This record gives sequence, C-alpha cells and structure tokens, in this order.
Amino acid sequence: MLRLLEVRLPLDHDENALRAAIARALRVPPSAIRSYTIARRGYDARKPDRIMLVYALDVATRDDARLLARHRHDTRIIASPDTRYLPPVHASRPMHPRPVVVGLGPAGLFAGLLLAQMGLCPIILERGKPVRERTRDTFALWRRKALNPESNVQFGEGGAGTFSDGKLHSQISDPHHYGRKVLEEFVRAGAPPEILTISKPHIGTFRLVGVVERMRATIEELGGEVHFESRVIDIDRTGGAMRGLTLADGRSLETRHVILAIGHSARDTFVMLRDRGVFMEPKPFSIGLRIEHPQPLIDRARFGRHAGHPLLGAADYKLAHHTTGGRSVYSFCMCPGGTVVAAASEPGRVVTNGMSQYSRNERNANSAIVVGVTPADFPGNDVLAGVAFQRHWEERAFALGGGTYEAPAQRL
Ligand SMILES: Cc1cc2nc3c(=O)[nH]c(=O)nc-3n(C[C@H](O)[C@H](O)[C@H](O)COP(=O)(O)OP(=O)(O)OC[C@H]3O[C@@H](n4cnc5c(N)ncnc54)[C@H](O)[C@@H]3O)c2cc1C
Repeated sequence: MLRLLEVRLPLDHDENALRAAIARALRVPPSAIRSYTIARRGYDARKPDRIMLVYALDVATRDDARLLARHRHDTRIIASPDTRYLPPVHASRPMHPRPVVVGLGPAGLFAGLLLAQMGLCPIILERGKPVRERTRDTFALWRRKALNPESNVQFGEGGAGTFSDGKLHSQISDPHHYGRKVLEEFVRAGAPPEILTISKPHIGTFRLVGVVERMRATIEELGGEVHFESRVIDIDRTGGAMRGLTLADGRSLETRHVILAIGHSARDTFVMLRDRGVFMEPKPFSIGLRIEHPQPLIDRARFGRHAGHPLLGAADYKLAHHTTGGRSVYSFCMCPGGTVVAAASEPGRVVTNGMSQYSRNERNANSAIVVGVTPADFPGNDVLAGVAFQRHWEERAFALGGGTYEAPAQRL
C-alpha cells in the first residue's frame, strides 16, 4: 500500500475526483489503481473563498514497489505506515497480587484496558460513581448548585473528559501511532467510525457516556475488576517497594504494581503522596477565562460563504500572542457550538470549562483564553504551591460569582 499525503481538492468535488487526483499524483492511468481508502480528511480554510479539502489516502496499485521507487524523492508519497498496536506481552496467567490502576479517567481506562488485553486482570479503583449516576450528580451542580465533592465533572467513571467537547486530537507527535489504537478502541465501543479519518475528531458528551460504559464492560469481560466509590487514601511502601493501598472505607489491598491515573484534580491524594515521600516536581500551567461568541459569527469569519457547509461543521479557531514581558496568551480547548460549564470539585471554589455535544449545534462558540504561569508565580516553595495558587483564584471567582457556583461574567 502507498500513502499519498496532501491531496487537495475543492470543497464540493465530485465522487470521481479522488481517483483522478491519485492517478495524477502517481502519474499512472486510473485503471492502475486497485483501491483506495481515506486515511485522514482535513481542510485548509486560510482563504475562505477557496476552502480546500486535504486528504491523506491509502492506495493499492498494480505495482506499489515500482511506484514507490519512482517517487522516492517526493515526500508526499510514502509506504503506508503499519498502525497496528502490538501489546508488549500476553500473560499466560493472571498476576498475583493483581496490578491496580487508581482512577478511571481516560488514562486509567486505557491502562486498565491494555492490562486486561494483556491477560493481567487489573483491579481498577475509582473514587467516584458509575457514569450514569455521576451524570445525575453533575446535573445537580449545574441546575441546583449542589456540589457532591466525590461525584462531579472531575470525579467518577470516565474522569474529567466525560463532560467535555470530546476532542480527540492533540499536538503531540505520535511516531508509533498509539493515537490510532485509542481511536480504534473508541470506535469498537460505539464511537462514530468517522473519528478514524477526520483530522480533528470529536465525540461529544452524551455519546462518551455509552462509550465509557462499553469500555468498562470489555475490561470486566477480560477478567478485570472495577470498584466505584473506592478512594485511595494511603500507600504502603515499606522497604522502598510498593506493598499495598488503603481505601477510605478502611479496606486494604495488597499489590506490587500501581498505576496512579488520578488526573489533575485529586488535590487530597497529591498531599498524601507528597507526605509519603513520592517524588514530585512543580510544573508550569495556564490560567484564564472562557470567552463566548455567537457560533455563526465564528463560522462566517472562518468559512465566508461556505459557513454551514456539512463537511466543515461548526468552525473553530486558535489564537496566540507573545507579550513583550515574555508571557504567552493563547486560546485553548475551543468548543465550537458548545457551552461553558462549572467544573468544580471542591466546595466554595469555581472553575469553568467548555463542553459540547456531538452535533456541536449550540448557539455559542466558547474558548479558554489563558496565560502561562510558572512556579515563580506561586506563593512559597512547597511542591504543591501551584495548588494553593489555583485555590486562591478559584475562591475569588466563587465569591465574585455570588457564591452559587455560577461563574462571574462580563461583556468584553
Ligand atoms: C469540562 C471539561 C472539558 C474538557 N474537554 C476536553 C476535550 O475536549 N479534549 C481533551 O483532550 N481534554 C479535555 N478536557 C481535559 C481532559 O478531561 C483531561 O485532560 C483528562 O480527563 C485527563 O485524564 P486523566 O485520566 O489523566 O485524569 P482524569 O480524567 O482527571 O481522571 C482521574 C480519575 O481518577 C479518579 N481519582 C482521583 N483520585 C483518586 C483516588 N485517590 N482514588 C480513586 N480514584 C481517584 C478521579 O475520580 C477521576 O475519575 C476537558 C476537561 C473538562 C473538565
């Protein structure tokens, strides 16, 4: 198979145009092309009047090797990469004691799934509730301003990513195609197959709920166990080796291998790990606000007369500004056709984030506008000084919003 990159065609091209474009790029008659599939489809909207679709295509011809040799100097024609994921081991029997994954967010879900697929029968401990119960608690915060500190936008099955835009792309280079494995597992669990090909795939909140449930069912079918409302409050590292875990309800669990997939919000667990001497370093992060515009305004600005075209969907944007003071201000996690939601997990503090459904057809576009901060901005030298910094601003936001988990808002 050959992979053709950067095949550009107008937005409304007809069915035969792809085959003709492949033949042109390879300099062969169309009859030499046995079959082709779309590996990726994106668009170039830098000129709103001439928006182009940009394809990566996997093509089978009568003689791939000869064509590869002929085009060896053309970087747009390469051998199709092998994107299969090969698990490093397959255990002949389960491990004793069993490996434990703490947290069932995206990291814990995939750690658990891979361990289960390798025959290692993991135990997964999640402090929050199964995703449907958790959805009820989350709506209680949004509608009745009632926060459950253990079951909310951050904590529970699916982790912080469940109530989200479900954006599945990142800017991290992925030479081993691990991202493909992630997308394939999502599709196996019921996500729309188009996420395998479009360049900025997303699932949306409501579909994620079912996807997460089916992935958990797969882990259990393969011999894994998932325990909800099971908060880890201590680790036993007697003699410098992992020995076991203690849970908030008094249970303890013997294990030699723990994957901590506890995410960004488990501040109580960070404190416990610090106090137990686990190595940690402070890291820079970004802080800011959410900004909203009517989605049609963004669509027209980006797509001109093509605004609303079904292949383009709701438009996104990305902005960055580097100040003379050395800081960068940039847009982040832009949610086309979405909503701004309260994403708090601690009483008396407000954080916001963006969320959307698969259709992305809400009235507004929203985006985070953030500025980078570093440990030099944090109060004191403790390794968790960044958490104190976050709490300070979250408390101010809570007070300014009226103390009801509403975010303070203003026109800009
Ligand atoms: C509203 C919102 C929208 C977002 N939108 C996107 C998006 O569109 N695309 C994107 O890529 N990212 C998005 N993000 C960010 C994304 O959700 C996170 O990057 C991602 O969830 C991190 O995954 P994780 O598994 O590392 O941690 P988390 O998702 O935070 O999961 C950690 C899990 O561990 C559990 N846990 C913590 N401590 C313990 C303990 N002591 N014992 C037991 N369990 C514990 C928690 O309950 C939680 O379920 C969004 C986040 C939010 C809040």
